[in-house]
Amino acid sequence: MRDHFEIRDGDLAGRIGRLTVPRAGVTVETPALLPVVNPNIDTVSPARLESEFGAEILITNSYIIKKNDHLREEALDVGLHEMLDFDGAIMTDSGSFQLAEYGEIDTTTEEILQFQHDIGTDIATPVDIPTPPDVDRQQAEDDLEITKQAIADAEAVDTGEMLVNAPVQGSTYPDLREEAGRHAYESDLDVFPVGAVVPMMNAYRYGDMVDAVAAAKRGLGVDAPVHLFGAGHPMMLALAVALGCDLFDSAAYALYARDGRYLTVRGTEHLEDLDYLPCTCPICTEYSPDDLRAKGDKRQEKLLAEHNLHVTFAELRRIKQAIRDGDLMELVEERARSHPAMLDGFRALLDHTDQLEREDPASKGAFFYVSNESAYRPEVARHHDRMDRLTAEGNVLLTEGGIPSGDEFDAAWRVVPPFGPFPRALSETYPLTAEVPDRLDRDAYEQAARGVARLAEENPDTTFTLAHDDWPESALDLVPDSVDVESLTEVTEMLADAAASDVSTDE
Ligand SMILES: [Zn+2]
Repeated sequence: MRDHFEIRDGDLAGRIGRLTVPRAGVTVETPALLPVVNPNIDTVSPARLESEFGAEILITNSYIIKKNDHLREEALDVGLHEMLDFDGAIMTDSGSFQLAEYGEIDTTTEEILQFQHDIGTDIATPVDIPTPPDVDRQQAEDDLEITKQAIADAEAVDTGEMLVNAPVQGSTYPDLREEAGRHAYESDLDVFPVGAVVPMMNAYRYGDMVDAVAAAKRGLGVDAPVHLFGAGHPMMLALAVALGCDLFDSAAYALYARDGRYLTVRGTEHLEDLDYLPCTCPICTEYSPDDLRAKGDKRQEKLLAEHNLHVTFAELRRIKQAIRDGDLMELVEERARSHPAMLDGFRALLDHTDQLEREDPASKGAFFYVSNESAYRPEVARHHDRMDRLTAEGNVLLTEGGIPSGDEFDAAWRVVPPFGPFPRALSETYPLTAEVPDRLDRDAYEQAARGVARLAEENPDTTFTLAHDDWPESALDLVPDSVDVESLTEVTEMLADAAASDVSTDE
């Protein structure tokens, strides 16, 4: 058990947690956003990040500070907190990014950890190797060995109360990511950044990002605080939280602002293309796009950065409320509609349903079926899994509504797409209370048919009759031959015909 991280609430694999940062004397609520502060560039001051935006933690780069004589002297002299004027927790990076960018840095894990300790860092980082996506297997393995060595070197440094990151690398090889996660988790380090995902996000490869994170999470214990390194675009935060990421750092707010780019939860806009500002933050209510453009580059950059921060922090609050309400999946589904690449990320998330299912709470407020992907939510998989605990004996009717005429049954169960069959007594229990549209898609019926198949498989001596209301062939094909199938529409028509002929006989 990692006693500096406590999970308070959860939905899917996402959670609201409390990260205790002893050196700063603060507790940070997660999911948390760490604005990236470049000590050389004052976009939005750390004091304002704290007071106006509610930032409880930020990240800056100890390597940049160490390389600059003036910054180094000041940081060593007064400490990072005073230098930046920030009372919250301060995480520092180690120069790994510079190593990845320029191929070389002149420091070691021991040296940079000692330096981070000396300048008053609260959460420090060793020098790992951020292996890019798609490298050959040998390189990914060799790099991972170096990262493992960096973790071992970091364990050997006496860092006192300072927390230390144990980075998880492995490129685009899920088995390496999982192994890296397990290795990092077994160390006595404290926070677990999943590294080198930025190139995937920049290329809109959200499906690959999800696979990499899901693999890392399989290796890490549930109680490990996970940092998705370099991820801070509001569009993808809900997806990343749903996977079980707790910390995010945003350089995007400042970097995008410098290029005149405006962040939204649906993607990135260019200020020059905007006629309206679709946001309710203080900047967007005070200024029009023309006003911002008229401000000149520096002022425009600052105001855009502030909007970018507002929209990102707002999304994080929305995500936390969704976790509290148990409807994070609905939020992820909504965000998935903003871009085809996000839809890929969402579908990749659903490929890991079994993994999500282990952490997803068994009962929540409501289940809204809002897209065909809803058919693959963890709740549906869990319902299918519970078929082995439901006993059905004798001659059992599984029906969507009516009872076929002329047959006698020992029991009548309900069938509701996308879940499948269940005893009536469970009708009022989550998730079978789901709100489902009348115009259902094929996936919902097919999942219900898989539920029927699972029940029949678990109860080989029982006779089942499925009375369905106009299921598509693709669903009926999934129902095993041992189950009798009757169409309720045909039965209703037959009964109507019979009633009509009765009336004519009476005359
Ligand atoms: Zn705004």
